[in-house]
Amino acid sequence: MLTMTTRFAPSPSGRLHLGHAYSALFAYEQAMQAGGRFLLRIEDIDITRCKREFEDGIKEDLAWLGLTWEEPVLRQSDHFARYEAFLHSLEEAGLTYPCFCTRREIQAEVDNAPRAPHGPDGALYPGICKHRPKAEADDLIAQGTPHAIRLHMDKAAKLAGPLTFTDRALGQIAVDPESCGDVVLARKDVPTSYHMAVTIDDALQHVTLVTRGEDLLHATHVHRVLQALFGLPEPVYHHHPLLTDETGKRFAKRDKAPTLQALRESGQSPDDVRALIQLHRPKSLV
Ligand code: GLU
Repeated sequence: MLTMTTRFAPSPSGRLHLGHAYSALFAYEQAMQAGGRFLLRIEDIDITRCKREFEDGIKEDLAWLGLTWEEPVLRQSDHFARYEAFLHSLEEAGLTYPCFCTRREIQAEVDNAPRAPHGPDGALYPGICKHRPKAEADDLIAQGTPHAIRLHMDKAAKLAGPLTFTDRALGQIAVDPESCGDVVLARKDVPTSYHMAVTIDDALQHVTLVTRGEDLLHATHVHRVLQALFGLPEPVYHHHPLLTDETGKRFAKRDKAPTLQALRESGQSPDDVRALIQLHRPKSLV
């Protein structure tokens, strides 16, 4: 029997705000209540936006809040070779294809097809590169054309068969692979993607309970498919509602939500921050 293990997995592209603090405390408390393990994982695959100073800031803020985590802390940018090996196994199985599209080309295609299928993050990839002859794709790659690698979701879903996942708040959910379409597995600039790295690391770090905001619920459908393809274990999930401000808007970096650093510097204590979190908890919050 594996020890109950949770993790907080921030991307160090800025300082933590109240929403992050809630998410981190949520994961930490689940582990502590069960006498389990709590991990901090730095999800820094976006090498252009992630910064070492933010990583240090995250640790400073979490320690100030009173959290402790197991060392060493996994930094995803140290493990690109691991993700590439997993990706390679999918390529070998014919479950991927290279995608040369720019954002603009994808948008133009979607604009031309108003009934293009949409997922929670907007329009799904419209499949421009899906049926490109292999010789042509090989030529483009040989010429050094930047390309991402996408999952051929129909093939993957067929191979994986019907899947479900268990969310502690929402119950058992049937996986709907089509809802996310042909997601990116390796970006043009980075040899992995969020979906790949998070799925692999949760399994390799023996995370048994994945807690995260409900804004990522749709991603779990992709992660279950990848787990099935890789033969990785299935954790339990708990997607929690997001903290919102007085106007009902979720705390987010782009809205300049107050950072923990700013709250601390203005004289607030960790207990004040916990009280603020209580104040902003949506009624449905468990
Ligand atoms: N790194 C992701 C984020 O900061 C969280 C990933 C997860 O919890 O699965 O939004």
